[in-house]
Amino acid sequence: MTAACGASASDGERTGVPGGDRAVVGRFAPSPTGRMHAGNIFAALVAWLVAKSQGGRMVLRVEDLDRERSKPQFIDGVQRDFEALGLYWDEGPFFQHDRDEAYQAAFAHLQERGLIYPCYCTRADLHAASAPHHGEKPVYPGTCRSLSASERAKREAAGRRPAQRLTVPDETITFDDLIQGVTTQRLDIECGDFLIQRSDGAFAYQLAVVVDDAAQGVNSVVRGVDLLCSTPQQIYLQQLLGLPSAQYAHVPLLVAEQDRRLSKRDKDAALDELLERFKTPAAVIGYIAGITGLAPTTDPATPEELLDQFSLDGLPDCFIDNVQIRWPGATA
Ligand SMILES: [Zn+2]
Repeated sequence: MTAACGASASDGERTGVPGGDRAVVGRFAPSPTGRMHAGNIFAALVAWLVAKSQGGRMVLRVEDLDRERSKPQFIDGVQRDFEALGLYWDEGPFFQHDRDEAYQAAFAHLQERGLIYPCYCTRADLHAASAPHHGEKPVYPGTCRSLSASERAKREAAGRRPAQRLTVPDETITFDDLIQGVTTQRLDIECGDFLIQRSDGAFAYQLAVVVDDAAQGVNSVVRGVDLLCSTPQQIYLQQLLGLPSAQYAHVPLLVAEQDRRLSKRDKDAALDELLERFKTPAAVIGYIAGITGLAPTTDPATPEELLDQFSLDGLPDCFIDNVQIRWPGATA
């Protein structure tokens, strides 16, 4: 069975929550581009439950790499949203805008090893070069990988500012996802050389996340299954940079009509609306836990109260069942 991104998972063998000696450190990693909605509340709740059910800690990291879309009012807003829902963190908040030096050091390390090259492709070039099937992530065909110095100079002279890409080998990355099972991706075929720095100088999400997770001791990563295909890239970067990996768990997405993933556009899923409808944060949490299979009922419950019976077994496996979780919305 194959996910849209090309990653594939085995049958639904679940490995259980990791044991071992390391203290578990999970993270909330919101982008301050809007308020919380049912989809990211669900992912945050599972992240908290996975860490806390193992006596672990939570880190709050504000992922504001995208300076233009990150708004100060949302930075305060997301923190208030987490607190209001009883999703407390133990360390942070950390901000990616403070971390440029660390990203630069990792970038330099990769560059010294000759693993990075400039890519001059425009969005239109990239679109023309790859014709992804519907819903699939385009794979970069390596257009700029072997440009000569003079070909590069010509593009620079024409005023093109390059992005920077990491060369990936014909290697297969395999990891055991707590929810999706064993997942594999062939880097060169299913992922392609991926962005490390954008043409505007901002470091790419994959690099920042890997550097931050290591620096902040994060070893439990829970997020939406739409990011499943990022994980092999991040594991490959961890290997190159000599950083420890993490236990990954990719939760099903909450979808609106026609399998469109829930977003800020869905007003009935926005936290303010949910509080209006359900009256208390515990009623919001309990409802989301009930419809996603985290809890047997939709009765009000705080995250603490859900800890007792917490198990990932009730969540649908996106590969086996080929389903996401439909958001019942205001008409439920
Ligand atoms: Zn290119």
